[in-house]
Amino acid sequence: MTYAIHWFRRDLRVAGNIALQKQFKKFEGRVVGLFCFDHAFLAREDFSVHRFQFFLATLQQLQTELRSLGSDLLVLDVGPEPAFKKLFSYLQTQKLPMPQCVSWNRDYEPFARKRDQSIGEMLQDFSVEVLTERDHLLLEPPELEKASGGGYQVFSPFCRAWLKEYVTPKIQQRIQQQKSAFKYLNERKNKTSGKIFRLTWSDIFQGKKPFPEILEDYSQRNQKKVTIAIPKAGTLHAFQQLQAFTDQLDHYQDRRDIPSLAATSKLSIYLKNGSITVSQIISYLDLKPFHKKQSGRDSFFNELIWREFYYHILARHPRVEHEAFLTRYKDMQWDNRQDWFEAWKEGRTGYPIVDAGMRELAQTGWMHNRVRMIVASFLTKHLLIDWRWGERYFMEKLLDGDLAANNGGWQWAASTGCDPQPYFRIFNPWLQSKKFDPEGQYIKKYVPELNHLPPTQLHQPIEKQSDYPEPIVDHQVRRDLALKRYKEMS
Ligand code: FAD
Repeated sequence: MTYAIHWFRRDLRVAGNIALQKQFKKFEGRVVGLFCFDHAFLAREDFSVHRFQFFLATLQQLQTELRSLGSDLLVLDVGPEPAFKKLFSYLQTQKLPMPQCVSWNRDYEPFARKRDQSIGEMLQDFSVEVLTERDHLLLEPPELEKASGGGYQVFSPFCRAWLKEYVTPKIQQRIQQQKSAFKYLNERKNKTSGKIFRLTWSDIFQGKKPFPEILEDYSQRNQKKVTIAIPKAGTLHAFQQLQAFTDQLDHYQDRRDIPSLAATSKLSIYLKNGSITVSQIISYLDLKPFHKKQSGRDSFFNELIWREFYYHILARHPRVEHEAFLTRYKDMQWDNRQDWFEAWKEGRTGYPIVDAGMRELAQTGWMHNRVRMIVASFLTKHLLIDWRWGERYFMEKLLDGDLAANNGGWQWAASTGCDPQPYFRIFNPWLQSKKFDPEGQYIKKYVPELNHLPPTQLHQPIEKQSDYPEPIVDHQVRRDLALKRYKEMS
């Protein structure tokens, strides 16, 4: 019997999963799924209990889905290298069939690339074929190069080149290819999809259960540490979220910067683990290339391209994971005051818009993009705290925490990144809140101690209240200091 294994990582869905589909066709439905808990990953400094819980819930959905389709997902409690070795050694000693091929969808994070390289080599030693596919980016880094060679480092030309490539038949085919995913998802929604796969792990193991079921146990243990509401997980929910957002799309350009409105898609958490992909969003919304952003659709499309941009940067310049993209800021002198960092994390800076954002993050695991920009600018430019401190804290808290976008966003705000906010453009938090939360609806939702104040008073220094602090720093003083520090490094 020939069969294949699809190794799931951050592509936790069946719908439109190209590598899985290819295996399905080639092996006539005889393909089973594998997931490995990489303990090195779980031990990372920026590990997030909440993101992990959402991930586990997504994995459980995927396992249920695969089982209902006639396949299965085996979850092993070790990293991929020992996992494959353990599995293969069991198959060989029991004289059970080895897989002919193992597939996965490509990842661009430095950690993942090294891992995939060594797993590929290991599989070769076992004479198992490898199939890899593009998945969570529409255009992969090698597909977009400057005429002079190398990748783009500035967003506007990147975006123009990306859109030029987007209209080519090759890329349009990728978009079209995803249409079948919606048909499949509708069938699942209506519970009309039947058993289409033709192999389970139980078939391979001849009814034995050599590896314990660990998913439920993991989930229950982790759940004890969870302190926020975890959103509904899985492809169907991602798809419903996309459908619900469609009504907002035309207003996206005008409303996306207002944090009190639910005007953005909130798809980032689903994109993170591959419950949905950029190709699927574009395909479903039928997004068209634009020259100048003129509508909500263009503006939304533009944001998806920002996501791709940061992935290309990370893939081509993996050093940004640890250091400033602009090397002149590598040795920037930061104040790094621990007490100010704590005040920022806890939403006690005395700047209501900053405090509202930080509390939204702690209470929900998400923060509005405009507010992410404000709090990141405040940490780096007003408090002069190293952007890496903020980046790490975001990764601990964000349900959508994603190395490429998070690093890109932080380096943009700190003016150390590729195509960043120029260092001399320092957000004035008072003006930002006046402009984007004029009535203070967002502020009052997360900083209820200020409910009694009229909106105008929320956008200027507030005198000390019994339960709300005075501003921990003075905007003008810190702005001048930041300008001086940045100028010295330039
Ligand atoms: P929408 O406005 O609906 O946008 C649709 C999609 O486009 C998003 O889901 C996201 O995938 C992409 N997108 C939107 N804005 C950006 C952007 N500025 N950069 C890159 N991609 C974008 N995004 C993450 O996914 N993970 C992170 O860890 C993350 N950290 C950030 C840190 C900072 C300091 C900043 C300024 C931004 C960060 N972003 C991050 C980008 C952005 O804030 C979120 O993607 C967005 O708020 C998610 O909400 P949404 O899905 O409703 O976005």
